[in-house]
Amino acid sequence: MIEVDLTGCIGSGKSTVAAALVRRGAVLLDADAIVAELQQPGRPVLEEMVAHFGPSILRADGHLARAAVAAVVFEDPGELAALNAIVHPAVRAEMAARRRELAGSDAVIVADIPLLAESGPERREGLAGIIVVDVDPEVAVQRLVAGRDLTADEARARLARQATRAERLALADFVIDNNGTPEALEEQVDRCWQWITSLRDSPTR
Ligand code: ADP
Repeated sequence: MIEVDLTGCIGSGKSTVAAALVRRGAVLLDADAIVAELQQPGRPVLEEMVAHFGPSILRADGHLARAAVAAVVFEDPGELAALNAIVHPAVRAEMAARRRELAGSDAVIVADIPLLAESGPERREGLAGIIVVDVDPEVAVQRLVAGRDLTADEARARLARQATRAERLALADFVIDNNGTPEALEEQVDRCWQWITSLRDSPTR
């Protein structure tokens, strides 16, 4: 088994890269998808969130109203810290449990962690490296406007709340440059996959 983390700003192309690595044989651990699972009705994470933020964060059908939580934490760093204190340990524990299930196999695990740079990355035992998908923020803005229902100003506001390009690059063991075409990105992913498998085949590991 070999584990790498994958991160990048919103619109950098992380999901695109993750899917391309899965096509090459990686097993994906998607932190956002795990958070969404942990926030389903009846799960302890959602119950803790309701205990802290109140029942107004729930829709009539008992599911989380994401926009209601976002509105609270956007305005208030203390509330954001409270949310993170509920969600982060649970998502870390769940990801660790999934890694343990794959221990001893020859899987290549890619953990897509959008806010790795923001959440205080730990060089946990077993982590072989961090891949950063790097993009000029204005390129990310253009792609977000084209691909999602965001205006340029909304996309810029979201980017401004994330770590800077330099902060993220400082974490990187491998950088995927996604400023070019989709074809150029595929070539970068090929190089990245070679790098990952060279780590696995290295006799020192
Ligand atoms: P993230 O998961 O980092 O937010 P995505 O993988 O969803 O980013 O990519 C953001 C948008 O940009 C998507 O619509 C995706 O299809 C598009 N995209 C990604 N890479 C490229 C590229 N090299 N050229 C053009 N569009 C791209």
